[in-house]
Amino acid sequence: MKKRIVLILIIASFSCENETKSNGKLNIVTTTSMITDLVKNIGGDYVNLQGLMGSGVDPHLYKASEGDVTKLVEANVIFYNGLHLEGKLVDVFEKMGNATKTPIALGEELNKSTLIGSDYFASNYDPHVWFDIAYFKQFASKVAQVLSENDPANAENYKSNAETYLNELEALQSKIKATIETLPKEKRILVTAHDAFNYFGKAYDFEVVGLQGFSTATEAGVQDVQKLSAFIIERNIKAIFVESSVPKRTIEALQAAVKSKGHDVEIGGTLYSDALGNAGTAEGTYIGMFEYNVNTIVGALK
Ligand SMILES: [Zn+2]
Repeated sequence: MKKRIVLILIIASFSCENETKSNGKLNIVTTTSMITDLVKNIGGDYVNLQGLMGSGVDPHLYKASEGDVTKLVEANVIFYNGLHLEGKLVDVFEKMGNATKTPIALGEELNKSTLIGSDYFASNYDPHVWFDIAYFKQFASKVAQVLSENDPANAENYKSNAETYLNELEALQSKIKATIETLPKEKRILVTAHDAFNYFGKAYDFEVVGLQGFSTATEAGVQDVQKLSAFIIERNIKAIFVESSVPKRTIEALQAAVKSKGHDVEIGGTLYSDALGNAGTAEGTYIGMFEYNVNTIVGALK
């Protein structure tokens, strides 16, 4: 409660001031590492970019620190996923909106009738939309548009960066489709720690089962583990997967449950779900993360 009051006071004390650009560049703040990487590709050196969530950070549980609030207040533009992915930041974003700055929820810009419904989120939609590359492309176009509107002098640069990046996403799409085609349809069953991969499953014809509900805020119960272990045995699934932003004990408990019934299932590797890998590695980019995930999934299930 005390922390909440402090946050409100900080927001109130800054809200009357006009945000100023540093070094003539736009100050951009982003939430998840996927969105940070996207804005880095399109904004390039023309913007000052600060991402709040690093690798391994779970956006469902992430709370803003006082330092984060200061960054958000000083930003010219804020990009976040929305659809209630950043569940604990919603209040902060709502208070942040004013005449000169509206935080942009990229997920809210998508055609809602095409999204996967969910009872777990206040948005009523599954927020893990970046796992469909077609949606991530729409994020890219929106980011280019917003940057151009806020910094018309560099509009041509943002447009050209967006075109380059959209071509790279197109190439990624073809590459992973080819990899997935090597995996027979009956082996396309993806069991992970939480339900982050439903859009991936829809796009690439995988049956997707998460041990936890959509959000990591709800822990998997003993009953879920028993049910899912029976499913793994029945469908003869070779491997299940840990996620980098979710503790691996839930998947280990599932593996132990399968073993206790006299069967065997491998842990096929660690997938990046709600956060990218470490900065400076291939998996620290959206494109590298996607390729790594697909190679790991296909390699383990074959
Ligand atoms: Zn998630």
